Amino acid sequence: MVLCQPDAGKSCGACCGLYNYVDSSREALTKRLSDRTKRFRELVHTPDDIQRYAEATFAVEDFRKRYEVIYCCEYLGFLDCGEKKVGCLVHPIQNDGVDMRTVSFYGQDVCAGHLCPSHHFIPRSQQLILLKIIDDWYLYGLCLTDIDLVVAYFRLIADRIGQELKPEVFDEPALKDVALEYFHWKMTWPFRSAEVNRLGKYYFDGSQYMISHINYEKFGREISPLNAIFLSLSSEFHDVAELETAEKMVWNNIETFLSLYDDIF
Ligand code: SF4
Ligand code: SF4
Repeated sequence: MVLCQPDAGKSCGACCGLYNYVDSSREALTKRLSDRTKRFRELVHTPDDIQRYAEATFAVEDFRKRYEVIYCCEYLGFLDCGEKKVGCLVHPIQNDGVDMRTVSFYGQDVCAGHLCPSHHFIPRSQQLILLKIIDDWYLYGLCLTDIDLVVAYFRLIADRIGQELKPEVFDEPALKDVALEYFHWKMTWPFRSAEVNRLGKYYFDGSQYMISHINYEKFGREISPLNAIFLSLSSEFHDVAELETAEKMVWNNIETFLSLYDDIF
């Protein structure tokens, strides 16, 4: 199963640099992708027009990045009129079979063949759950590419119910809503570090990627069992009260899920 373009309601463009702009807010990305799509449709009728499109895009957009080493591709746009699906504007499906990905930074082979680690490291049942519960390109790409955020949450629940969660469980709207509350924290987590140059658990120190770290010792605490989740949510705690509030939020979410699950199944 390829996760990039799963259905009519969402898709992912993370590996094309979607979230690597300094301003990667939903509002900024929506405008960026929408403007590109209109520009592409107006200017590009044959492969010879691509250069004009690229120049016009570089002239008007702010291409400052979070991580310098990750390319932000100028050809990522919206694929549908409803702006529900992000994707490649130079893909052959978008251009009557003409493959224009040869112009891309990565080249046609990489663009056509790349599958990110989420395809291998998120178990299939959890991939299917994500497809079921998230219908929003912005949140979908953010969560799908955050392997720890997904795997740690479903593991904590599976450990308590004694089996892996089945995707059908999320046909129950109440259970879907509880899981969505958790995944929405990827956008709204109150303890997210204000540092701009940070996405998930990684940060870039100017020369290499580093995995961020939460200093539990200074709070007189052992490493939290929720540490992987906290790192995925780019957490920064200023005192032990914040840490405990964060733990309570996640555990409450899980307890609510388990209680509903027990009632329904
Ligand atoms: S980050 Fe992964 S799922 Fe998203 S578009 Fe790239 S390969 Fe597909
Ligand atoms: S050209 Fe390649 S990197 Fe750019 S949007 Fe298309 S698939 Fe992504």
